[in-house]
Amino acid sequence: AERTLILVKPDGVARGLAGEILRRVEAKGYSLVAVELRTASAELLGAHYAEHEGKPFYPPLVEFMASGPVLAVVAEGQRVIEGFRALAGTTDPSSAAPGTIRGDLGRDWGLKVQQNLVHGSDSPESAAREIALWFPAL
Ligand code: ATP
Repeated sequence: AERTLILVKPDGVARGLAGEILRRVEAKGYSLVAVELRTASAELLGAHYAEHEGKPFYPPLVEFMASGPVLAVVAEGQRVIEGFRALAGTTDPSSAAPGTIRGDLGRDWGLKVQQNLVHGSDSPESAAREIALWFPAL
């Protein structure tokens, strides 16, 4: 079955929303394959966000992502990549639709980076690359 990498970002962990977010993933019917709480290194985040290097939000993004523990999750199920991105909602939590993780639980906190609670792989290629980075033993 298809797999995706989900991250509950430091804002989600700090606000105590990791359980609520995992609950939504499980309630939609996906299986959890791996779950690990850890503070990511600059090296891991640089590899994870390589496509954004050079963009104005890249430095605050990496700083934010390294600011505290993230919950890294591999979830599995038919079309889980598309399904989790639908659960997450659009990037900007202020305009993300109610019913989504970002729309229900997120808001603008006035920083230079969108603190939008979660990351989800955007394609099978990204999922394979990101799962290998975060869970090399899988
Ligand atoms: P989506 O693909 O749905 O837009 P995403 O999480 O994959 O969501 P990316 O475009 O890959 O978003 O950007 C990675 C992260 O960088 C975002 O989740 C957000 O935290 C931050 N980010 C993206 N665009 C901006 C922006 N214009 N200003 C500030 N932060 C941003």
